[in-house]
Amino acid sequence: MRTTRQREEETQAGWDLHCHTVYSDGTLNPEGLVREAQEKGLGGVAITDHDTTAGWADAGYAARENHFPVMRGSEITADHHGISVHMLAYLYIPDNPALQALFAATRARRIERTKCMVDRLAKDFPITWDDVVAQAKEGGDTTIGRPHIADALVAAGVYPDRSAAFAAAVGGRSKYFIPVSSPSVESVITAVKEAGGVIFIAHPGATSRNRFLLSDDDFHAFADRGLDGLEVRHRDNSAEQQERLAGIADRFSLLKSGGSDWHGAGKPNVLGENRTDPSVVAEIVSRGTIDLVG
Ligand SMILES: [Zn+2]
Ligand SMILES: [Zn+2]
Repeated sequence: MRTTRQREEETQAGWDLHCHTVYSDGTLNPEGLVREAQEKGLGGVAITDHDTTAGWADAGYAARENHFPVMRGSEITADHHGISVHMLAYLYIPDNPALQALFAATRARRIERTKCMVDRLAKDFPITWDDVVAQAKEGGDTTIGRPHIADALVAAGVYPDRSAAFAAAVGGRSKYFIPVSSPSVESVITAVKEAGGVIFIAHPGATSRNRFLLSDDDFHAFADRGLDGLEVRHRDNSAEQQERLAGIADRFSLLKSGGSDWHGAGKPNVLGENRTDPSVVAEIVSRGTIDLVG
């Protein structure tokens, strides 16, 4: 039996709204995510695998089995005039046709691009397409991408870990790199809103990911379009950027979230290292269409 006090603490605890599992490039399944979140005393977690809802059923099962709340979502890759923009979509109707078409197109382009990169890499390194596919823990349900190339290179003994591979052959500045086209930010906002979801921009101040960041005017335009919030607290947003983003969020009435971008053992990010206030979680739930599970 949980005491009233414990229950109160649980409802007060922050949520981690940015987590990846084996359904994209994380190393643990949704069950592992739920168990680790529970051990850490988080209020709840969101599952946000890349451009897919493939992990939702597993996540719902784990949430109910462990009596731990899970918010179902996805991280969607978008583009704004050459700036790569990651977006976090929550609590939308999963079988919405517009959104499913967007996911399918993105996955097809990414697989094509990943195959081309592997062709280039295979000339210089001992890896094949089969080696890369073998790194995808959930087979056909996983969004195959650069992290799986990195893992294949690690398995072949070329690099000690995924980060080292990204710093070299797999990275955006490598001669093996091939860019992949993504839907526009506006089209993602429109599709997620049509599907009844809530949409944030992930790590908007990550200078390590883009040469240029979105401008204040960009955020203003996205807010007018229906954007709900910004992931202000994320390890890739510098302190200076976090201050800037918090100011922008206040100015344009956007919600402020925090997330770890947890990938299990795939990245050093620690589950719960950045959290979202329960009051913001409640607001997301009130705006979304589907319920929390667990
Ligand atoms: Zn991201
Ligand atoms: Zn992420």
